[in-house]
Amino acid sequence: MLYDTPALIALDFDGVICDGIREYFQVSKRVHDLIWYYENPAPETLEPQFIKLRPVIETGWEMPLLLRAINLKFSDEHILSEWPEITQHLLYVMSLDTIHHPNFQKQELSKLLDGIRDRWIAEDLDSWLSLHQFYGGMIDKLSRLLRSPTQVYIISTKEDRFISQLLALAGIDFPSSNLFGKEVKQPKYETLRQILKETNINPENTWFIEDRLEALELVTGQPDLDQVNLYLADWGYNTAKARDSLKSNPRIKLLSLEEFTSC
Ligand SMILES: [Mg+2]
Repeated sequence: MLYDTPALIALDFDGVICDGIREYFQVSKRVHDLIWYYENPAPETLEPQFIKLRPVIETGWEMPLLLRAINLKFSDEHILSEWPEITQHLLYVMSLDTIHHPNFQKQELSKLLDGIRDRWIAEDLDSWLSLHQFYGGMIDKLSRLLRSPTQVYIISTKEDRFISQLLALAGIDFPSSNLFGKEVKQPKYETLRQILKETNINPENTWFIEDRLEALELVTGQPDLDQVNLYLADWGYNTAKARDSLKSNPRIKLLSLEEFTSC
């Protein structure tokens, strides 16, 4: 249980504040079908497998590649255990196909994905929004935190503008100075370090809540961030294996949505 309210809370966005899994699938499908237009489109029936394998994703550009890997019938076990190698392989294969993908790299994939998202928002905001859901009690918790002395930050690999738009539509006017999105282009622990330096808040009075175990593990490798309280959000995109691994890792604690939103 969590008892003392910290001076600073840093939260991830996707899989901690907001569940946009249905949007990820649809955006990934649009990108996938645009890139591999000369092959079969990814069928809607792949969505459950995409949702199941979502924990492997770190950044948005990987999502269409995940759909590609599923469509190419890579096994779940293979994707879960060797995802970084598979992305390298898929990017390499694309780079060889100079007719369809001249100079195609992850930057282009990322640009394409954000462009499709921007166009979708501009053309049909309602349908885009309908694919997002804030986790139960989260908006209320965020607005309470924003009115409290606790400083709230969001550290995400998503574009700032998408996060701001979603929060604004839920009635949260989140201070842009406390929002660190994809533009930051540095590991999350580096952003955390920067925030602690700027706010002059003690690491032991800080919580970092994230649904991706790897991002938390990277913080544990930073001696100056040793005292930061690390929480894995059990409601987000992580596997049972990742959650179970915490039994032998007292440095990172498992947090439930109820514990977080009710304290
Ligand atoms: Mg996340």
